Amino acid sequence: MKIKQYRTQFIKELSPFYDAYEAESFFYLILEEKHKLRQIDLALNHELTFEENDFVIWDELVRQLKKEVPIQYLLGKTNFYGLDFEVNENVLIPRPETEELVEWIINENSNPDKSKKIKILDIGTGSGCIAISLAKNLPNAAVFGIDVSKKAIETAKRNAVKNNVDVTFVLLDILETEELRCNFDIIVSNPPYVRNLEKEEIKKNVLDYEPHLALFVEDNDALIFYRKIASLAQKRLFEKGKLYFEINQYLGKEMIELLENMDFKNVELRKDIYDNDRMIKGNI
Ligand code: GLN
Repeated sequence: MKIKQYRTQFIKELSPFYDAYEAESFFYLILEEKHKLRQIDLALNHELTFEENDFVIWDELVRQLKKEVPIQYLLGKTNFYGLDFEVNENVLIPRPETEELVEWIINENSNPDKSKKIKILDIGTGSGCIAISLAKNLPNAAVFGIDVSKKAIETAKRNAVKNNVDVTFVLLDILETEELRCNFDIIVSNPPYVRNLEKEEIKKNVLDYEPHLALFVEDNDALIFYRKIASLAQKRLFEKGKLYFEINQYLGKEMIELLENMDFKNVELRKDIYDNDRMIKGNI
């Protein structure tokens, strides 16, 4: 069958679940990953065809997509901040909002003086996307990442190798940690922050397939991770050291209060591209 013809069929078959634009983007992601063909190749050669056995792969992927399994898990990879990351059901799929947090940190902390070393800690690193993209873009930084999930740490370690950076990943439950072992210039975290009461807003592809451990917190203690991390940071940030968080969009005000009450200075709340309060920073 001509690939172009199959594209139409693919989009139609997924139409009850995804709009044509999204289905088409899946089509090209799969085409590139499984057949090493890009959109331009298809545009330039209308005669490209699939063989009978190619459909073994495509049929299975369509079956999974109909169940709303995220395409990133099906392909086992995604792009974050221009880098390729392995993702699987043990780690959250990196979000564009988190790229904005990384961008903020890189912009504020790039130092042309390469001899000035800094130390960064990423808490709840998951796939390692924050830690690795910082290591890649801040060459004078020694970067550490911790996570409570062994499988996440293993994934993050593979991602560091894949991206050719040196990041130290350690298995650690932050809620059970009484003190960090050394001082840092930057501590960053995108901890679980979705309240159970917000579950209704969460799409099926997230709710059914992404790790709840990385997403949800109790309604009555939604800032548990932030309080804990901020208090550890208070003791372990160097002078003028900075703390950056990705946050729940509904809790911007509460987060400002939390940091100011803990004596963090220059507290700054920022919105993401969707105009939601999404990240915050303070220094000691
Ligand atoms: N932004 C993610 C979502 O909306 C949540 C990430 C998190 O809990 N840290 O699904």
